[in-house]
Amino acid sequence: MRVIKMLTRGVVFGLLIFVAVQSQVRGPSTAALYEGARLIVGDGTAPVESGAFIVQDGRIRGIGKGGALTVPAGATRVDLAGKTVMPAWINVHVHIGYEGYTTWGAENYTPANVLDHLQREAFYGVGATQSVGSSPTDQAVQFQRDQQAGRFPAASRFFFMPGMAPPNGGPDAVLLKATSVLHAVHEVSTGDEARRAVRSMADRHLRSVKIWVDDRRGTYPKMTPEVYNAIIDEAHTHKMIVHAHATTLADQKAVVRAGADVLVHMVQGEKLDDEYLALLREKKPYWATVIGLGDRSEVCDNDPFVDQAVPDRVVAAIRATSEARPLAPSCGPRPANAAVREEMLANNFPKMIAAGVRLVLGTDAGIHAGHTFGSADHHELARWVQLGLTPAQAIVAATRTPAELLDIKDMGTLAAGKSADFVVLNANPLENIRNTRQIDRVYLRGIMLDRRALLARWKKASTSQ
Ligand SMILES: [Zn+2]
Repeated sequence: MRVIKMLTRGVVFGLLIFVAVQSQVRGPSTAALYEGARLIVGDGTAPVESGAFIVQDGRIRGIGKGGALTVPAGATRVDLAGKTVMPAWINVHVHIGYEGYTTWGAENYTPANVLDHLQREAFYGVGATQSVGSSPTDQAVQFQRDQQAGRFPAASRFFFMPGMAPPNGGPDAVLLKATSVLHAVHEVSTGDEARRAVRSMADRHLRSVKIWVDDRRGTYPKMTPEVYNAIIDEAHTHKMIVHAHATTLADQKAVVRAGADVLVHMVQGEKLDDEYLALLREKKPYWATVIGLGDRSEVCDNDPFVDQAVPDRVVAAIRATSEARPLAPSCGPRPANAAVREEMLANNFPKMIAAGVRLVLGTDAGIHAGHTFGSADHHELARWVQLGLTPAQAIVAATRTPAELLDIKDMGTLAAGKSADFVVLNANPLENIRNTRQIDRVYLRGIMLDRRALLARWKKASTSQ
């Protein structure tokens, strides 16, 4: 039965590829004028009211106040009066490929499933998604090549990086089961081994690497300073970026001091001190908070925006259990330590921002069953605003700043020359960040994503299994 299912999946996937190759990756060559919308550029500046922009061959050719643009003859017109347009988001931190919605693990890791997760991100307005430390390199490189060659249907652009950890360390107990089967994490014990591993990544033109510097409260082997200093030094020699998973104050200080470019997670259970804040002001690292991972599942909010893309049985299972995820309870009673955690977030988050860290969107989606792709991005932004960020700042951290971190030159803002990757909203998220959920349409490279077809497929999958 399983084999038949896999074969069927393979055939369906083959068809998907075939259809994708038949269509153009570049958008239509006929120019289109999108007019009347409020434009949120993505750089934190005030929105352009009644704005307009021209899209041709998948790129934004001109943008400005309505009426101020020279419109090419024969351009089609799209009336967006009353709508708000913002750039597609960029998620710099997920764990792609393992979630199967009825099962979770290495057995689900196929190109079709990676594509499915990227389509889920795209469905929710995310135009680029980076899998961090848990994707097997050979498969990921191949997937990226195939996607760039236009062999897949529209989806979030795929980015990834290998991970590094001490033997039997690194990913948490759930993720580790999958990554060890696929040998997705480089296990290194010495500075020399670490440097060799980083050089092998640089030889393959990989731009980033993730390190786990965490002993999970003494239960794991910990990456030593010798090893992470060697990794960071070697990576920087090759112009590579280092993402560091560290959750204690001492570890975050150590990796920032050592030159890690991106912090993953917040310090948990400790208040930040002046020494650390001074260090942050000096180094200004990027920072993916992934707050949502420690929260109750978004599914507990009873928001149809979240539920729509998740199979009904998964929604029901999450709501029925109080321990669907190892890190946080689902819909049972809030854990005793929730208030303490919230107090710590309220203390530490604004201090990190005030110190000038460069906040970027990351969700850790896919790391465990039920913490899922796309909707988690909106949850993360709402949490930031709850903790004191303005909606405009939150949007910049989901658009321009992650584009800068990933060096995606044609994404991140609405500007002439950029790829036409944008989201059309029915309400203004600058007034209420939860309005990012009012998605009317998503465009990738100037082509409207068929969100209805994707939903139909996901709901069908949920009833036929
Ligand atoms: Zn992660």
